[in-house]
Amino acid sequence: MQDLVGLSREQLTNILTEMGEKPFRTKQLWQWIYNKGEHDFSKMSSLSKAMQEKMAENFIVSRPEVIVEKNSTDGTRKWLFRFADGQQVETVYIPEEDRGAVCLSTQVGCLMGCKFCHTGTQKMLRNLTAGEIVGQFMAARDSYGEWPTPANETRFLSNVVVMGMGEPLMNYDNMVQAMRILMDGEGIALSKRRITVSTCGIADKIPDLATDLGVKLAISLHAPNNTIRNQIMPINKKYPLEVLIKACHEYQARLPHRQYITMEYVLLKDINDSIQNAKELIELVKGLEVKFNLIPFNPWNGCAFEPSSNNQIHRFAKVLEDAYLAAPIRLSRGQDIMAACGQLKSAMQKKDALS
Ligand code: SAH
Ligand code: SF4
Repeated sequence: MQDLVGLSREQLTNILTEMGEKPFRTKQLWQWIYNKGEHDFSKMSSLSKAMQEKMAENFIVSRPEVIVEKNSTDGTRKWLFRFADGQQVETVYIPEEDRGAVCLSTQVGCLMGCKFCHTGTQKMLRNLTAGEIVGQFMAARDSYGEWPTPANETRFLSNVVVMGMGEPLMNYDNMVQAMRILMDGEGIALSKRRITVSTCGIADKIPDLATDLGVKLAISLHAPNNTIRNQIMPINKKYPLEVLIKACHEYQARLPHRQYITMEYVLLKDINDSIQNAKELIELVKGLEVKFNLIPFNPWNGCAFEPSSNNQIHRFAKVLEDAYLAAPIRLSRGQDIMAACGQLKSAMQKKDALS
C-alpha cells in the first residue's frame, strides 16, 4: 500500500492519471487530505464510490503512531511518534500568546554531533521522508482537532519551526518537498512567513532556502569565533564562520523583501558567554539583518557543559541591545516534559531497556 501523504501535487496527479482519473481529482483529493484532514477514503464524499474503493485498495493516508503524548504545565505539548518501520522522532507544540508553533523533526538522530545537543549523541539512523515530516504536523493537528484548516488565523497550530531532531539541510530535498506541501494554498496553507528552518550551518544549501522556499532562516550560531565554534560544533571545520556568514548574506540578497535571520545562541558557562564574546558577535553580524535568540542551555545527563547564570545572560544581552541588536532571552519551555530536543526519545529508550 502506498502512502499518499508526502507526495507532491505532480506525483499525485500522475498516480491518478494512471488510474484513469481526470486531473481535477487531484485537487479534490488534495483538499480532503490536507484541508479537511480526512484519512478514510470512504468519507471523501465528493469522490465517486468506485474511486473511493479503488483508492482504498491501493493507498493509505497515513499518520505516525503516537507512542507518548505529554503536556507541560506551561502549555507545551510533546509527542513521541513512531513510523511504519518502527523509527521514532519527537515533535513539540509550543504555544505563544495568540498562536503557536509546531517543531518538526527531519531525521532520526543527527550526524552533526554538536557537543551541547542531546540529539547529537543519538545514532543517525535515517532521513525522514517528506510524508513523515508533513505527517508530524498533521498528527499534531489531529491532536488539537484543528481540521478542516480554518480560513482565519485563530488556529493554535499557526507556525512551523523546523528545529526538532536532525539537521534539515542534510535532508534537503525531502524537507523542501514537505514545506511545499505545508504551504500549498489549497491544503494546510501556511504562509512562508510562518515557517522557520533552523540549521547548524550547512552553508552551501542556505542561499537555496531563499529561492526554493522563501521561508525564514534561523542559524544555530552559538559561538562568536572559529576557535570556540570548532570546539562545540564539528560542522564549523567544514563551513567556518566566514563561509557561513557569506551564505547568510547571499540568502538575504536572494529574497525580494528584507528578511531578518534569527541567530540562535545557547549560553554555555565560561565557554561562549563572556562580554568579549558578545562584542565579537556584534562585529560578526555587521551588515546582516539579524535578531538574536539567547537560549539558556538545557543540561542533560552526561553533558559537561553548564548553563550560564541568569546575571551573565542578562549582561550578555545588554551588550547586544546596546548595539541595537534584538536579543530576547528565550524561556526554556516544557522543562517538565523533557522538551529539549532528543531528550524524550532517549529517556523512553532507557526505560525500554530497563523493563
Ligand atoms: N539541527 C538544526 C535544528 C535542530 S536543533 C540546528 O542545529 O539548528 C534546534 C536548536 O536547539 C538548535 O539551535 C540547537 O542548537 C538547540 N539546542 C540543542 N541542544 C540544546 C540544549 N541542550 N539546550 C538548549 N538548546 C539546545
Ligand atoms: Fe544536530 Fe542541530 Fe543537535 Fe547539532 S544542534 S547535533 S545539528 S540537531
